[in-house]
Amino acid sequence: MHGPFWNEERETLEREALRAWQLKQLRATVKSALGTPFYRPRLHAVGVQHPEDLCALDDLEKLPYTVKDDLREAYPEGLLAVPIEQVVRLHTSSGTTGTPTVIYHTQADLDAWTELVARAIIGCGATSSDIFQNMMGYGLFTGGLGLHYGAERVGLAVIPSSSGNTSRQLRLMRDFKTTVIHATPSYMLHLQSYMEPAGYPRESLALRCAFTGAEAYSEATHRKLEALMDIRVFNSYGLSEMNGPGVAFECAAQDDMHIWEDAYVVEMAVPGQDRTLDEEQEGELVLTTLCRQATPLLRYRTGDLTVLRGTPCACGRTHRRIARIRGRADDMLIVNGVNIYPQQVEAAIMGQSGVGANYQIHLNKKGSLDRMTVRVEIAADGFTGDIRSLERLRHLLRDTLRSVLLVTPEIELHEPGGLPVSEGKAQRVLDDRPRA
Ligand code: ADP
Ligand code: ZN
Repeated sequence: MHGPFWNEERETLEREALRAWQLKQLRATVKSALGTPFYRPRLHAVGVQHPEDLCALDDLEKLPYTVKDDLREAYPEGLLAVPIEQVVRLHTSSGTTGTPTVIYHTQADLDAWTELVARAIIGCGATSSDIFQNMMGYGLFTGGLGLHYGAERVGLAVIPSSSGNTSRQLRLMRDFKTTVIHATPSYMLHLQSYMEPAGYPRESLALRCAFTGAEAYSEATHRKLEALMDIRVFNSYGLSEMNGPGVAFECAAQDDMHIWEDAYVVEMAVPGQDRTLDEEQEGELVLTTLCRQATPLLRYRTGDLTVLRGTPCACGRTHRRIARIRGRADDMLIVNGVNIYPQQVEAAIMGQSGVGANYQIHLNKKGSLDRMTVRVEIAADGFTGDIRSLERLRHLLRDTLRSVLLVTPEIELHEPGGLPVSEGKAQRVLDDRPRA
């Protein structure tokens, strides 16, 4: 297998040439960062007055990290590196958990972003003959617009359906013979469970593949989606600080996600520490923008846990890959002293037959002890009302989770569609424990 490529020269650049490009672009990024109120004093403090003060790529390690709180502190204009006349768009975070953050884009920034998404789309084997229904929210959230422009650039027929309204999504899919969709994994599971009952059996749809991301999901869910929908599912990773979707994407080899190293310098760090890691060691992904004029970001701590892989890929791309995101460093739950990632729960239950489309983790206190309840929807075809088989499933899930988590959760079974569905990112954890 080789290709197909959108930009073969860039996607298969020799490592040496790639590193030379990175150094050149890093200097350009530092130059524009020096023009911002936020970075200027920070760069001066580490002795960087000019871009040429960086003699080699490794000098990046001298620069300070940037964290989400820095973006909040710099809001709204502290990180803006160009005159506002050159800005053509901005995206802000929702701001529900405090001061929002903002990323500005020039036209060149948007073009560079679109290029990365176009590469990803072609890499999955989609072509201009595909009908693409984009079920990610359009607006300040970057998921919708990011894929939209990439898909138009490649020439797919784009249906900008945005998120929600499942029956309308299905009607559009049937009437326009949608072949490719883009949605969160939790929404795709919901969509799938809705198809048959809403009168859209699989045979009535032309669907062949899906891009999915924006939230962490397990390999078990990935396989479940592929099997239930009879399509190929490609993992898509991105974050608004680094544009949005298109940062890393699975190629047709489906062997982890290529991260575009001509657009980002990739580093791995020990979560919560100022220490970098090598390839093949799990840690926090740290990214530096290389092709962004309006909002340069240096050594941004994404909070996302993954492993960087440098082994060759069958597709021929030279850009390294990151493993499925295990979650965010701050997703970790501590239950009676045991560390648990929601992903571990998902991986343990979603592969079991009899389990349906949705689950939720609920935490509260009983006396001084934490109590964990996992609410699980059962599969539509497993819902026979036979109490004994439900009890068997409950025990199986409890025992499986106990052996993986070393904590024994309560299992609550819910009927198909019984748990709340989110149109965007799923809310998997409800933590009702009183704060200490
Ligand atoms: P927010 O940080 O408010 O959720 P973003 O839309 O920028 O807003 O979300 C980016 C985050 O979503 C990433 O940092 C990561 O935690 C998560 N994410 C995105 N794509 C994936 C993916 N394919 N797998 C796992 N997590 C993902
Ligand atoms: Zn590949």
